[in-house]
Amino acid sequence: MAKLIDGKAIAATVRAEVAQEVAELQERDGVTPGLAVVIVGNDPASRTYVNNKKKACAEAGIYSEEYALPAETTQQELLDLIQVLNKKQDIDGILVQLPLPKGLDEKAVIEAIDPGKDVDAFHESNVGRIMIGNFHFLPCTPAGVMELLRSEGIEVAGKNCVVVGRSNIVGKPMAMLLLHQNGTVTVCHSKTADLPSVCRGADILVSAVGKAKFITADMVKPGAVVIDVGMNRDENGKLCGDVDFTAVEPIASYITPVPGGVGPMTIAMLLKNTVTAAKLHCGLAQ
Ligand code: NDP
Repeated sequence: MAKLIDGKAIAATVRAEVAQEVAELQERDGVTPGLAVVIVGNDPASRTYVNNKKKACAEAGIYSEEYALPAETTQQELLDLIQVLNKKQDIDGILVQLPLPKGLDEKAVIEAIDPGKDVDAFHESNVGRIMIGNFHFLPCTPAGVMELLRSEGIEVAGKNCVVVGRSNIVGKPMAMLLLHQNGTVTVCHSKTADLPSVCRGADILVSAVGKAKFITADMVKPGAVVIDVGMNRDENGKLCGDVDFTAVEPIASYITPVPGGVGPMTIAMLLKNTVTAAKLHCGLAQ
């Protein structure tokens, strides 16, 4: 039976640490970190994510502002807002909730964000910094996975790590962070030949595919650590990950549940990045 990695509890610890740091920043330096959250359109999932992020900010003592724009917003209107937020003194971090409605160019919007305020770490210059290991911000979901591994005392160095998925948001940065921790990393995708056999070689298996019950028991080496980034709906509409949890849990040594695994870590890491941004802006970090 695998040990369940309790992402909710670990995220609560990170959030408490962030709240403590914010309180110290306010008292000692008179600095209150500020986050602007931009949401365009009426996607219900995006609305839930934005509400959760705002609530988490409030609980940590981080100032947050929401900019809710209609789905008909033009590219130029959105870029103009980003320029305003780039200059706004009380805003340290800018988060544009993705996906954007069709017709808006996500890449151009991300590139318009001041890299020093890019708390999602999606801007090309932050991606480059992550690549060479000289970063201010780490992308929230992969950083959350690393924090889960660290909290459980799971050593990455020398381990065979397999990441399934190669998106810019999750798979690629995940691979890079495992590599920085001296894992031996394989990245898989939809064209990977004999995926089950590659996955079976993993000591640490991270799935970021977006398909329910995609990782089956025959893809998991006994004793492997299984991290499930996926957020899907099963046939009954219930939230589930990529991993066939019931079948894999008896084989793995550690496993993350969905919900309650990687998901809560993403927000905790966003708060951390916002505090880092505030410290950079007021010269308390370099
Ligand atoms: P993308 O759709 O951008 O990427 C999915 C990846 O899975 C692609 O690289 C794709 O390969 C690969 N893939 C698809 N089918 C197969 C297959 N049959 N075999 C092998 N690889 C395959 O998704 P994201 O990276 O944005 O998200 C992945 C999952 O993580 C989603 O469920 C998402 O909801 C979840 N997520 C969870 C977060 C959290 O906080 N817990 C945060 C962000 C995402 P190819 O490149 O070849 O197409």
